[in-house]
Amino acid sequence: MSGGQTTVPGVQTFIPEKFWPGDRSEGVTQHHKAEIEVGTPFEIAEDVFLLRLPLPFALNHINVYLIREGNGWVLIDCGVNTSKARDIWEATIKKLGPLNRIIATHHHPDHIGLAGWLADKFDILVLMTEGELEVVGRYSDPDRDIVAERSPLWCEHGLSAEQAVQLLDKMPRYTKLVTPLQNDRLQLIDTTKVMSVGERRFKPIVGRGHCPEHLSLLDETGEILVGGYQVLPKITPNIAVWPGGDLNPLLSYFVTLQPFLEISPATLLLPSHHQPLYGTAARARQIYAHHDARLRALLDTCDRAMNACELIPAWFGRPLREEEMGFGLGEMIAHLNYLEVEGYLVSRLTESGVRTFEKS
Ligand SMILES: [Zn+2]
Repeated sequence: MSGGQTTVPGVQTFIPEKFWPGDRSEGVTQHHKAEIEVGTPFEIAEDVFLLRLPLPFALNHINVYLIREGNGWVLIDCGVNTSKARDIWEATIKKLGPLNRIIATHHHPDHIGLAGWLADKFDILVLMTEGELEVVGRYSDPDRDIVAERSPLWCEHGLSAEQAVQLLDKMPRYTKLVTPLQNDRLQLIDTTKVMSVGERRFKPIVGRGHCPEHLSLLDETGEILVGGYQVLPKITPNIAVWPGGDLNPLLSYFVTLQPFLEISPATLLLPSHHQPLYGTAARARQIYAHHDARLRALLDTCDRAMNACELIPAWFGRPLREEEMGFGLGEMIAHLNYLEVEGYLVSRLTESGVRTFEKS
């Protein structure tokens, strides 16, 4: 336990000010007023194309980016493995030409689902950070059911064994959404080095909290920032606790969000979801403010010893739908763990093995 309440003039904040300095009134400007069309690539910056692909989830699309390199393209992220997305790729390849390499921002199915399929098609490499490669290996292991491994964590946080089984049945399995990636196609990214892609040179920025080692790429000229999932325009990235992962992912996220506060307002942010924008630093501040308010609301809700599941309806303002429960519970645990590490809450395991939290 360390830390405690930190104050900025007039306001009590739960996220220490060192993570969150500066003017919080600066704005965000959308680059594209009209909603981007799914399946039609368009040039968002010189020799950089945005392609929006459909997703079969509540978040119904992902943006991937193609950067011209010689006669081909370097692709950043790929979309999930569905027939609709594959059809869009076939048409896009016909229109634009071949891929030279694929860079993955992180291991989630909407980002690398079609990496194996595309890499096989063009006989090319898929580049990823070390932290993400490790998870891909673990998640693709045919002898493990990674989703089923979530059950003990969920039960520790208040789900009954029966509810956990029901939830597991409903959750999509990684290998269904991700095409197989051959080991010899994988290449590690050295995040300490500048990466040349076509005519541009990018500085890697590592993000943690949403996944082990997320990659964003800042154009050295400052014109564009391929932000991936780390800073999103309309929603805040899902920061959750998963078995075998970071136990305080919110702190990891706050720490690695800091470089985004330094991004020039003139840099165009190219995000994985929703519309590209100017004002990355302002958006990062909004995200800090969002979590600060969520932490405050959680602490207010926790007025007696309660487990994560008991806290969910009040904190989210409603009971979660079954398909939201996995992410929602993980997010809840992340916020509870953060408040415990910062000294606002204490937790204990009851005799039945359920963890309850109360104010310290
Ligand atoms: Zn993700």
